[in-house]
Amino acid sequence: MALPVVAIIGRPNVGKSTLVNRLAGAKEAIVYDQPGVTRDRTYQTAFWKDREFQVVDTGGLVFADDSEFLPHIREQALAALAEAAAAILVVDGQSGPTESDREIATWLRQQSVPVLLAVNKCESPEAGIIQAAQFWELGLGEPYPVSGIHGSGTGELLDALVSHLPAMSELEADDEIRVAIVGRPNVGKSSLLNAFVGESRAIVSPISGTTRDTIDMVVSRGEQRYRLVDTAGIRKKKNVSYGPEFFSINRSFKAIRRSDVVLLVVDAVDGITEQDQKLAGRIEDDGRACVVVVNKWDAVEKDSHTIYDYNRQIGAKLYFLDWAKRLYVSALTGQRVPKILDAVDEAVAQHRRRVSTSVVNEVLEDAVSWHTPPTTRQGRQGRIYYGTQVTTQPPSFTLFVNDPKLLTDNYRRYIERQFRENLGFEGAPIRLFWRGKKMRDLDRDSVNRATKV
Ligand code: GDP
Ligand code: GDP
Repeated sequence: MALPVVAIIGRPNVGKSTLVNRLAGAKEAIVYDQPGVTRDRTYQTAFWKDREFQVVDTGGLVFADDSEFLPHIREQALAALAEAAAAILVVDGQSGPTESDREIATWLRQQSVPVLLAVNKCESPEAGIIQAAQFWELGLGEPYPVSGIHGSGTGELLDALVSHLPAMSELEADDEIRVAIVGRPNVGKSSLLNAFVGESRAIVSPISGTTRDTIDMVVSRGEQRYRLVDTAGIRKKKNVSYGPEFFSINRSFKAIRRSDVVLLVVDAVDGITEQDQKLAGRIEDDGRACVVVVNKWDAVEKDSHTIYDYNRQIGAKLYFLDWAKRLYVSALTGQRVPKILDAVDEAVAQHRRRVSTSVVNEVLEDAVSWHTPPTTRQGRQGRIYYGTQVTTQPPSFTLFVNDPKLLTDNYRRYIERQFRENLGFEGAPIRLFWRGKKMRDLDRDSVNRATKV
């Protein structure tokens, strides 16, 4: 899976590396793991909405100066740009446009890559707009005022940026569903993997994943192909000497991040543990579709209450995943194993589903009629103007309101429940974003307070 690359370009000291760290959430730089390719540029992975990409700091681009090492830097920038899906030209809002900026801009306009203009060091919202406006002259379209140090303005910049990048789902072969099988040791992950492989029997091919020691396996059922992510991670313990207690949660987190849908495998005999809860929390945080697979169902002594008791226990402990389907299976006997891929298909369809704005607003109107937003002691009442689904994977909705502070957590949860009840989306987490009419101003105010000099 090759992620699209975003090249950060600009003369030295404008704040490129600060901005790169900000966009990548200051995660550690990853070493590009491609056999035979040496790269001395630093790539960092970044995420925004449903997009994932790599940001590369080109290290500074100067045309006028001809000191000895500059040709090398320029070469780096050119090489980075050659493979980039988009570029961000960073300029310094406090110093205003310089001759170097103009030269770089002129050159960038001749390249075929889309370019965004980030005017950095704009901590002050009022001054920032004026500082940014000076850069219209570069002819690169709208200048975005940002502050790499404080993070302000980067949301707008990223929104504009990701419109130039392919969605994650488009990065993969479209017909492929990426499935991560995660769970504690000994819950039956490799038994399930073998069951899938046995069931599909068509193509089973190991494919190298994103790093050298991950192996994905592709199986197919009918027309549908499933990429089982990081099967090496599942099987590893069999030929490695660490004890059965070894459990690489980070490896599981990586697999979750690379998947469309996660099979969280838990053990019916042991019940839900803290490790299961950690994984569940991450699945929800990352916005992945999910199916909870309760394995070893054959080993449970059952009476007429058993299923009820289990559902209650699991529901209480995995409350983050109350939207996920639960399947009681046995990898050993094969009971209900074929249902797992059916549930995967359904969860993925829900994860990708889009509902029209009119349907969203019908649900909202109804919800508000049943239960109006709360009023503060000062007599101010929350108002929801309208809502719309902004993205899928996971399905995300923006609700435009008079003032998000007036919509209490309780009320928000109520609306979320109404969305669930009326819109379904079983198998997919959903997100609600509450946006005030004047949210922009509110954000700016808080930035302003933080940077008051
Ligand atoms: P690069 O050479 O373009 O990679 O620039 P750096 O990221 O190393 O930053 C150069 C200088 O600008 C450093 O002293 C930073 O602290 C400063 N700087 C970077 N971003 C900002 C910002 O958003 N606001 C302000 N005021 N200074 C910044
Ligand atoms: P993993 O560590 O999660 O990959 O777990 P394994 O697939 O290696 O299974 C661990 C142990 O549980 C093995 O001894 C399996 O035979 C056993 N096991 C796996 N699935 C089932 C099941 O559905 N029922 C029962 N009774 N045992 C199972």
